[in-house]
Amino acid sequence: MSNNEHRRAAAIGGHGSPRDRLQDPSRRLSSLLVEESCLDLPLTREILARAGDLPLTVIPDGGEPAPDLAPYPQSLTQGKRLLHLGRNRGRFLKPCPATRNYRCCDYQVLNIGAGCPMDCAYCILQAYLNNPWLSFYVNIDDLFHELDQALAAKPGQIFRIGTGEFTDSMALDRLTGLSARLIKYMADKPNAVLELKSKAVVLDHLPPTGHRGRTIMAWSLNSTEVMHKLELHTADLDTRLQAAARCAAWGYPLAFHFDPIIHHPGWEEGYRATIRRLYQLVPAVSIVWISLGAFRFLPALKEVITSRFPNANFIHGEFVPGLDGKFRYFRPHRTRIYQVLVEELARHAASHTCTYFCMENDQVWQDVFGYTPEDKGGLPAMLDAASRTAEKN
Ligand code: SF4
Repeated sequence: MSNNEHRRAAAIGGHGSPRDRLQDPSRRLSSLLVEESCLDLPLTREILARAGDLPLTVIPDGGEPAPDLAPYPQSLTQGKRLLHLGRNRGRFLKPCPATRNYRCCDYQVLNIGAGCPMDCAYCILQAYLNNPWLSFYVNIDDLFHELDQALAAKPGQIFRIGTGEFTDSMALDRLTGLSARLIKYMADKPNAVLELKSKAVVLDHLPPTGHRGRTIMAWSLNSTEVMHKLELHTADLDTRLQAAARCAAWGYPLAFHFDPIIHHPGWEEGYRATIRRLYQLVPAVSIVWISLGAFRFLPALKEVITSRFPNANFIHGEFVPGLDGKFRYFRPHRTRIYQVLVEELARHAASHTCTYFCMENDQVWQDVFGYTPEDKGGLPAMLDAASRTAEKN
C-alpha cells in the first residue's frame, strides 16, 4: 500500500489495520442498528457475535435508524459506517432494472441489502437509494424459500443471479457469511448460476470446494488512475487480481466488469495496462465473461458528485442524454473507447470468454464487434452459453 493509501485509510478509522480495512470494508463500520424483532433471528446472532465490540443500538421495527445524520448528500459519508439489520418485507428476487432501449442481459437481482461501505465517486447508488445508511436483510429463511420457489417454477430457464446490484456482493460478507451459504445452495441447482461481484477481497470464509462451478466470482476493474482517485476504500488492482487467481485455483469461474469506463488523461494506456495485468495474474481459461460499460449517470447523480467530490472532473465531460434518461458519452466516443478495450482483450482472452456491453445499442455492438446480440441468439443466450462453459472447465 502506498503512503497515500496508508494515510487515507488511517484517517478514516474503523477496525483492523489500514490494509485490512481496504481489503475488507466491513471493518470500516462504526455501529450496528438492529430492528427489535430481528434480534433473535439466527443470522442476527451470528453477525453480532462476529462484530465483536461494535456498538449496537436496538431500534423499533420501521423506526428511524439514524436520526442525527448531516443533510443529504453529506449524510452518505456517515451512513457508510452504519449498518442496519432488518427484515426484507418485499421480494428478494427481481429482474435487473434495465431499460428496453438498450441491450440488457436478463439478470436477476437477489436483493440482500442496500448501500456500500466503500465509496466510489461515480457510484449510482448515491442518487438511487432512499437511505444513507447500509442495510442488510437478516430474514434469509424467506430469501431461500423464495429462491426455491422461483427456481422450481421455471426448471427450463437458466437464472443468472447476482447480489451486487444495490450493494457490493462481498463488502459485508465477513460479518454476514451470506455468500458461503449462497454458494452451497447454488451448487446443486441445475438451472441457476450466481455471480458475486465486488471491489473488496474477502475470501477466507468461502468454501474452496463443493461449489461445482455454479458461482462466478467477479471483480470490477478500471484503470489504476480511476481506481486510485475515484474508488475510495477499495482493494487495489493487484490485490483484486490475486484474489481472483486464488478463486480460480479453487475452481471457481471468474468474471470481470470494466464499468464504468471513464475518459481521463492517459485512459487508453491505463485500460490497456489493466487488461495486460489481468492476464498476467489470472488464468484466461477461468474467465467466463467480461462486461464493458462506459460511464453513464442519472441527472441527479451529478449534483451529488459535485457536492461530495468537488475536485472530480470526470462528471464535467461532454455527455448526451440517452433514451433511458441517463447521460452518456457521445456514441462515436463510446465506440472508440470500446474498440481500444476490445482490441486489447482480444490479444489475451480465451475463445470461450464472452465479452459484452452492459446497456448499449445495436449500432455500437455492430461497430465494435461486427455483430449484434440478435445475430448470436440474444445477449441472455450468449451469457447462458458462457455459464455452461464454466461448468465444464
Ligand atoms: S464498490 Fe460498487 S456499490 Fe460500492 S461504492 Fe463502489 S460502485 Fe458503489
